[in-house]
Amino acid sequence: MLGPVILAASRSDKMRRFISAAPGTKQVVDRFIAGESVDQVVPIVEDAAGKGLEVTLDVVGEDITTPAQAEAARDAYLELVERLKVLDLGVRAEMSVKLSMFGQALEGGHELALANVRPVVEAAAAIGTTVTLDAEDHTTLDSMFAIHEELRKDFPQTGCVIQSYLFRTEADARRLAAAGSRVRIVKGAYKEPASVAYQNKAEIDKAYVRVTRILMEGEGYPMIGSHDPRLIAVAQELGRQAGRKLDEYEFQMLYGIRSDEHVRLAAEGHRMRVYTAYGTDWYGYFMRRLAEKPANLLFFARSVLTKG
Ligand SMILES: Cc1cc2nc3c(=O)[nH]c(=O)nc-3n(C[C@H](O)[C@H](O)[C@H](O)COP(=O)(O)OP(=O)(O)OC[C@H]3O[C@@H](n4cnc5c(N)ncnc54)[C@H](O)[C@@H]3O)c2cc1C
Repeated sequence: MLGPVILAASRSDKMRRFISAAPGTKQVVDRFIAGESVDQVVPIVEDAAGKGLEVTLDVVGEDITTPAQAEAARDAYLELVERLKVLDLGVRAEMSVKLSMFGQALEGGHELALANVRPVVEAAAAIGTTVTLDAEDHTTLDSMFAIHEELRKDFPQTGCVIQSYLFRTEADARRLAAAGSRVRIVKGAYKEPASVAYQNKAEIDKAYVRVTRILMEGEGYPMIGSHDPRLIAVAQELGRQAGRKLDEYEFQMLYGIRSDEHVRLAAEGHRMRVYTAYGTDWYGYFMRRLAEKPANLLFFARSVLTKG
């Protein structure tokens, strides 16, 4: 019940100011956000690589209001590419982007987001890695998929994300499960109406299994984004049934969540990628992590109360 309330709060400027200024916030944010700057995140990427893990890096930020902020987002990713070039990890260090941060919600947003994200995808390809387009709320997805298709004409390895809570997703999965595609399946982290999305956890999980089957039986490269032990076991079984080798799909989890499991799956021979978010504009990302697990909220409330 708390999840939707927290997700509603994630859109409120008043709550953003209150939570950002609360004395115990930073301690809890640090669990999910790998650092504020690229200098802080580089050692974390090196550490992950040393443990046999791969990463997808996300510069946090989404609620921008001006084209200049969208250009700043592009430049932050271009700076990241320069740093990744030195590490020379290739696809073991890729990037995830939210098109809202590249201007998608502004006037002329579709073209603006495409114009801002293209140089990042191009720079990523030049150092042997790639970009995945995150899925945001359902009103943004037609634009996201159109940008994905456009980018794939020149950069076919560009990935995208689909969300099992949406009714549309099985059809999207069928369309996307073609040779050369890279598709991340997740449950979905936004507050969506009953007209477009399952509201019930069991329905969302069942849809996740159906979509994972479509991706595993298809010709693309499935990326299983979940911390759910049951869904991870099902994905392993579906991969096996589809005749896939362990390196023909991958698991992905978020930085700070079930870290032992990251290492365990990698040690079993799976490709395991850690979605590693960093930056200063962490509010929206952080609130979605609180909404996913009410215990996080309790921990957060305790931290704020004891420090306040
Ligand atoms: C790599 C990756 C990329 C993602 N990209 C997107 C995206 O582009 N668009 C989008 O809408 N969503 C995205 N998500 C979020 C996703 O939609 C879910 O909200 C999130 O993964 C929680 O669902 P779950 O599959 O882990 O299952 P759940 O049933 O929510 O969780 C299973 C178990 O994992 C642990 N867990 C899960 N979440 C948390 C948490 N926040 N804090 C502590 N423990 C937790 C708990 O032990 C929980 O019991 C992404 C998730 C991952 C892993």
